[in-house]
Amino acid sequence: MTKILPDAGWQHAQGLKKVLALLQDAHGGPRYVGGAVRDTLLGLPVADVDIATALLPLEVIDRLESGGIKAIPTGIEHGTITAAVDGKNYEITTLRRDVATDGRRATVAFATDWREDAARRDFTINALYADPATGEIFDYFDGSGDLQKRRLRFIGDAHQRIAEDFLRILRYFRFLARYGSGTLDPEAIDACAAGAHGLTALSRERIAQELTRILALKDPVVSVGLMVTHGIFTPFLPELSATAADDLQRLVEREQKFAQPVSLPARFLALVTSDAIAVDKVTARLKLSNKLREGCARRLQAPTPNAGNIRAIAYGTDIDTARDVVMLFAADCDVQNCLARLNGWESPSLSIKGGALIEMGLPTGPLVAQTLQAIETTWVEEEFPDKERQYALARQAVNTALSAIKNA
Ligand code: ATP
Ligand code: MG
Repeated sequence: MTKILPDAGWQHAQGLKKVLALLQDAHGGPRYVGGAVRDTLLGLPVADVDIATALLPLEVIDRLESGGIKAIPTGIEHGTITAAVDGKNYEITTLRRDVATDGRRATVAFATDWREDAARRDFTINALYADPATGEIFDYFDGSGDLQKRRLRFIGDAHQRIAEDFLRILRYFRFLARYGSGTLDPEAIDACAAGAHGLTALSRERIAQELTRILALKDPVVSVGLMVTHGIFTPFLPELSATAADDLQRLVEREQKFAQPVSLPARFLALVTSDAIAVDKVTARLKLSNKLREGCARRLQAPTPNAGNIRAIAYGTDIDTARDVVMLFAADCDVQNCLARLNGWESPSLSIKGGALIEMGLPTGPLVAQTLQAIETTWVEEEFPDKERQYALARQAVNTALSAIKNA
């Protein structure tokens, strides 16, 4: 029976219709491919629409431009052109077959054979195509059967497919977390374990991108657990902590229990050692973003959180950092209280300024800033008391400073 792509909102974008109309050819294309088909079959939302075509990249550019659509040659040597229309991007890739592979990149030849194009894709569920006009699904390796069974299967021999491109190991665990069911494929996992050494051959950016994508998934616990037991991290993340799998599990359980969003720095910190210098080194080595790098450092600097100090932690950093510190490092019995103390709380500011201290008799100079800092420290320790108390603290601090001058 012919399988039909269910109707979904993304198929009705006018820009997409225009792109498709411009790419009509005699080879049965263009067709939707990859994630858009897979996720629509599962009834999931679709973020990116990939399109496959037998037309050559330069022809794709010509056709798009003739229709007044901006064509960006994103990866023209691999056959990918991005059509930018109505604020959306569509990636259009010419059918390909691999000519040579070396574990890192493939040399490709453009082709007109759909099955050949499907065969070079990684997993059966990622090699589904759909005719935009009729919705007919083209499924050369029973990807829809696997999708129904929630089975992640390499197209062809897992060992060989990994040797062609080692990144597929990380992609395997990412897609496993997203689409896999409880039953595992020991052969595929063994092939990933056997190929893990090859990950060192990949660029750090590619590794970092996949790692980040895995960590950003709603529930990567089982996948990451398998990666740990099969030594997948060892070649590129020797800073993995001995308790990584358990710590990540605890974090994800807390996220779910307390309905907290996924935080990338928290997820990353659950995996690695808590040695701040080692973490700084690994974030730099993997070329992770500065935001993530600084976020990790801030979280590791904070003291162990409890209901008594959590607002002080938030005041010294920011609410997101404080929340992550709770999720990662608070004792089970403290999590709820800490989160409640952060919920809706806005970081206050000290009302006392240097001018007020001078009015109280403090001479201008460096002592003003020092005294202000001492007042702030006590104010934070006392959990941000009101203006009246702040003035009392200021008078005390000014008197202490003045008597120190007198006695000097
Ligand atoms: P996502 O929802 O994560 O974007 P996707 O399936 O669209 O999922 P992409 O990484 O965007 O995944 O890649 C698009 C398609 O290109 C995949 O579905 C797959 O068919 C193919 N592909 C991508 N990377 C590889 C790879 N390293 N080896 C083989 N095929 C790949
Ligand atoms: Mg995609």
